[in-house]
This record gives sequence, C-alpha cells and structure tokens, in this order.
Amino acid sequence: MATPGDYCTIAGCLATSDTLDAYLPAATGGIRVRIPEMYARSEPTISFEFFPPKNDAAEEALFRDVVPGLKALNPAYISVTYGAGGGTRERSFRIVDRLRRECGLEAMAHLTCVGSTRADSAAILEEARALGIENILALRGDPPKGEATFRPTPGGFRHAVDLVRFIKERDGLAVGVAGYPEGHVECPDRRLDWDRCAAKVEAGAEFIITQLFYDIDAFFEYEDHLRRRGVRVPVIPGILPFLSAEQIKRFTKLCGARLPDDVLRRMEDCGDDESVRRLGVEVCTELSRRLLDHGVPGLHFYCLNRVPSVREIVHNLGLVPVR
Ligand SMILES: Cc1cc2nc3c(=O)[nH]c(=O)nc-3n(C[C@H](O)[C@H](O)[C@H](O)COP(=O)(O)OP(=O)(O)OC[C@H]3O[C@@H](n4cnc5c(N)ncnc54)[C@H](O)[C@@H]3O)c2cc1C
Repeated sequence: MATPGDYCTIAGCLATSDTLDAYLPAATGGIRVRIPEMYARSEPTISFEFFPPKNDAAEEALFRDVVPGLKALNPAYISVTYGAGGGTRERSFRIVDRLRRECGLEAMAHLTCVGSTRADSAAILEEARALGIENILALRGDPPKGEATFRPTPGGFRHAVDLVRFIKERDGLAVGVAGYPEGHVECPDRRLDWDRCAAKVEAGAEFIITQLFYDIDAFFEYEDHLRRRGVRVPVIPGILPFLSAEQIKRFTKLCGARLPDDVLRRMEDCGDDESVRRLGVEVCTELSRRLLDHGVPGLHFYCLNRVPSVREIVHNLGLVPVR
C-alpha cells in the first residue's frame, strides 16, 4: 500500500497517493481514474477509441486480437463510441465495463442525445454509475441514417451543451466533449461553432477531444480561439490513421476536414491500400510530433479497432519502447 508521497502506476497513470482514493476498485470492481486528472501528468496521455463490434463473436475477437495489442502500448484509457440512435448502448457499456474489470484499463463511455428523453438519459447515467463508469464523452450525436438534420427527441436535449449541464447537475462524473478545428459541418461559421464549444466548457466539460484533422494550422487557430475565450481545459487532438484512399477521402469529406494537397499528391503515388496505410503512419507521426512539440497534453487515436498503424505511430514517437 502506498504511503503519502509515494507514487503508484495504475492503467499507465502516475498518481500520487493523495489522490489514491480515486484509484481504488469501485464497488462493482475495476479501477477508477478521472480522465481530466490524466492530462495533468507531465508525459503525454495516449488514448484509443473503439466502436462497438456488431455481434458477440466480433466482440470476442476484439478482446482476443485487438485489446492485448493496444494494452501493450500502455494507453491511459480507451473510449467506446455510442451508436446512432443508442442502438449499441448495451454493448458499448459492456465493453467499457469489460475493459475496466477484465483488462485493468480505464475506459470512457460516449453518450449521445439521439433518441433519448431526459428521463432516458437519467436512467442511462444511473446504469453507467452502477457499472462504476467515471468518465463520459457527452455528445449530441449525428442525425439517424437517412435524415439530413438532427431533430431532438421530444423531451430530450437539442445540443450537447444541454447534456453536459444535465450530467454536471446530477453527479460528479468527469465529462468531455467534442470539438471541431475546422468547424462542425452543420455550422456555417467555424468561429461561431468554436464559441459553442467554449459554451460546453462553461457548462462543465473538463476536456475536449477534437474531430480528426490533418491541417495543423486549423488546430492551432481553433485552440488559440478557445484560449482567448478563456477555455483552460485540455484540448486533445483526435488522430485518424489511414486505412485506404477511399476510406480517408470519405471520412474527411463527411466531417469537413481538409486533406492537405501534398498528402493527396503522395496518396496518388500509392499503388495499394497497404502503401496508403503506411503513408497514413508517416502523416500521423509527423502531425503528432508537431502537436506534442507544441505542448498538447495528449493524443486520442481513432484506431478503428485495429492495432498496426497506432502501434507504428506511438513507436515512431518514442512513446513506447520497441519490443
Ligand atoms: C471525439 C468525438 C467522438 C464522437 N463520438 C460519437 C459517438 O460515440 N456517437 C455518435 O453518434 N457520434 C459521435 N461523434 C460525432 C458527433 O455526435 C457529431 O459530430 C454531431 O453531429 C455533433 O455532436 P456534438 O456533440 O459536437 O454536438 P453539439 O456540440 O451540440 O454541436 C452540434 C451542432 O449544433 C451547433 N450548436 C451547438 N450549440 C448550439 C446552440 N446553443 N445553439 C445553436 N446551435 C448550436 C454546433 O455549432 C454544431 O453545428 C463524435 C465526434 C467526436 C469529435
């Protein structure tokens, strides 16, 4: 047992014993680490994001083939997305629970407003609490498939800021939110969107994870805008490695992120998906290195339930010794 002043490492997180209570096993088992505290460490906080697999067999494959490879990279936490319409809630929460209990990894659940009344959101938060979940990424969510605009559920929330306020009024969960260095696709003015992001922090959000981007100047401008607005919480870049040319062009188009011309040119010279993947490793390594040099406290990798690219990137960055 640590004595005052000792340090202990849990889930890759260095904690003083002053804060040890927060790390003791929750009533339901597992570890409890508040993500905002991780970003106060001197070394970069690396996190990965999963989406819940479609069925039980794929979930087992994820835990057998992917989680051990990611765990070897010593992430501070893993976050698990919440499917449009909340259809994946049960599986998303179960994966968070399994990561925490079975794998000894801190994990964060995403939660959206889609398809939920206030009472539904309250019940879902109770469920999260009962599982000992400590960290939530509070989102509005995208419109369901086939619908062009987001329509709030009657009796539910219209914007993520309303969900943030609701969570913070109810209990002490640590809450993060999404941010958009190039502006959110629905918002005609990116500075207005950034002001709305600042409003989520004013409502109680303790950290921001950004949408994927490859234009580093867009991130610097966004971060600068937030800082001028008085936002002091960590702003964590979201990094997406490439799978294929088709995939990265589609993803960037969907979320309004610009692929720099030199990256597009280099992609044209790639003969197959594997060379595009390797190009993505180079591009993301360079982007991450510049962001770390700039002083970001962490990097959040959209790993798309795969290990190789993120392993190569964190090794290139010297964040994990090569084995
Ligand atoms: C890190 C990250 C993780 C994500 N995880 C998921 C996930 O698990 N599941 C999922 O379905 N989606 C996820 N998304 C996608 C996200 O749900 C969509 O981008 C969604 O369209 C917006 O969500 P938001 O929380 O940013 O919404 P908001 O912050 O509510 O913003 C949505 C739009 O409303 C505008 N707006 C905000 N406040 C106001 C206001 N007061 N008045 C008028 N307009 C306003 C904003 O400018 C923006 O255009 C994720 C995105 C990121 C960046």
